[in-house]
Amino acid sequence: MALLPVLCYPDPRLHKVAKPVAQVDARIQKIVADMAETMYDAPGVGLAATQVDIHERIVVIDVSDDQNELMVFINPEIIWASPEKKSWREGCLSVPDYYDEVERPSEIRVKALDIGGKEFELDADGLLAVCLQHELDHLQGKVFVEYLSILKRSRISQKMKKRAKELESQR
Ligand code: ZN
Repeated sequence: MALLPVLCYPDPRLHKVAKPVAQVDARIQKIVADMAETMYDAPGVGLAATQVDIHERIVVIDVSDDQNELMVFINPEIIWASPEKKSWREGCLSVPDYYDEVERPSEIRVKALDIGGKEFELDADGLLAVCLQHELDHLQGKVFVEYLSILKRSRISQKMKKRAKELESQR
């Protein structure tokens, strides 16, 4: 397994739209294992392939307290969303050290393939519902800060560019 570099906002590669996985084979399973390792190392509760510059529809999530319940979603699709909405304070590995409120449907149903290529459906609420919607947005090339005002977004962009420069100068 290997740790993968995570792209940081406003990297334009975060806005690429991911393609469906044609076949869940050893190559995809290797990507999933590397993504899981990268997510746990960060640590984070979710990671979309887009964030590690792989533009295929793959998401890994673990919202368990002990970080020992890995969930894998290949070609995930939201097939139902509740009319009720809920606001959560979200963060993102691609937008380090920034958190803000985003309103989304509070419950969803998702259809996806598992690591063996088998289709399943899952009903999600709470943090899992938020996380799934956040990660599925990534596959569409959307970062959560795009739900915020233009003013906030431009401040975040500046902050992230400054942060990247500082990291660069420390090398
Ligand atoms: Zn994210």
